[in-house]
Amino acid sequence: MRGRESSHPAITLKGVSFSYRDRPVLRGIDITVPRGSYFGIVGPNGSGKTTLAYLISGILRPSSGQVDTHAGRIGLVLANPANQIVSLVVEEDIAFGPENLQLSPEEINARIDIALSVIHAEHLRRSLTTALSGGELAKVVFAGQLALDTDVLVLDEGTVMLDPVNRKILLETIEELNGDLGKTIIHISHRLDDLEAADTVVALHEGVIALRANGVFDLTRQIEEHPIPGIEPGAKILYRDFLISKGITEEDLEKATHELAKRIRARSS
Ligand code: ADP
Repeated sequence: MRGRESSHPAITLKGVSFSYRDRPVLRGIDITVPRGSYFGIVGPNGSGKTTLAYLISGILRPSSGQVDTHAGRIGLVLANPANQIVSLVVEEDIAFGPENLQLSPEEINARIDIALSVIHAEHLRRSLTTALSGGELAKVVFAGQLALDTDVLVLDEGTVMLDPVNRKILLETIEELNGDLGKTIIHISHRLDDLEAADTVVALHEGVIALRANGVFDLTRQIEEHPIPGIEPGAKILYRDFLISKGITEEDLEKATHELAKRIRARSS
């Protein structure tokens, strides 16, 4: 959420390049993610987004360059939450990480309570994970990361499996985690409209950072001049695009719509 970010970095990537065997995938990536910020990474399929998520989370090591996580705890949420569920019952699934940290049963219990309340899912505590919807599964994965006291949440295409209603709920949850709890969010998507709440958005194209912007609105303007095929704008962004093509650059959508209506009225009178 805007205004919460600090000047201390949560994640720093310097000159990071990565190859799968002899296949270069990322080149010269420089990224600084301030603590408490909401950082968006958008890019078409195959541009290297998942590889970047793995590098930030420490699952992969760069072929060259440095990834510094500043001693913070990083949690990764993958596109298909079902892949990250390990237990049959929600509370056991959330307990899995903390149990590996050898915490006491009381502490683990308390962490489960807090994690579930943060994501408004206390009612799911004893549910079977096999009975949950995609949105609920995604929430359980989040709760599992929160129970590990994660500082930074990296989401790789976290909404891709979700229907529009669950997608909206998840996006709101992410915003709350950032705005209310001050978690640093790194949200990776091929859809620009997933990243409406991001303070900073970078566009990945063929393994390099092609554009850097202060939010999706700024990025939309830049994409007008430097198109990147394969980035899905989503309805809201398409509408903004249309407004920009009409010369309306007002950032507040309601005000911009007002302006558009005024012009249409003026033309037809
Ligand atoms: P994105 O998440 O943007 O779709 P990825 O990071 O998954 O991009 O992939 C970037 C490129 O690396 C793609 O061309 C992909 O085919 C390739 N790639 C991904 N994983 C592997 C792998 N394990 N071995 C070889 N090439 C891979």
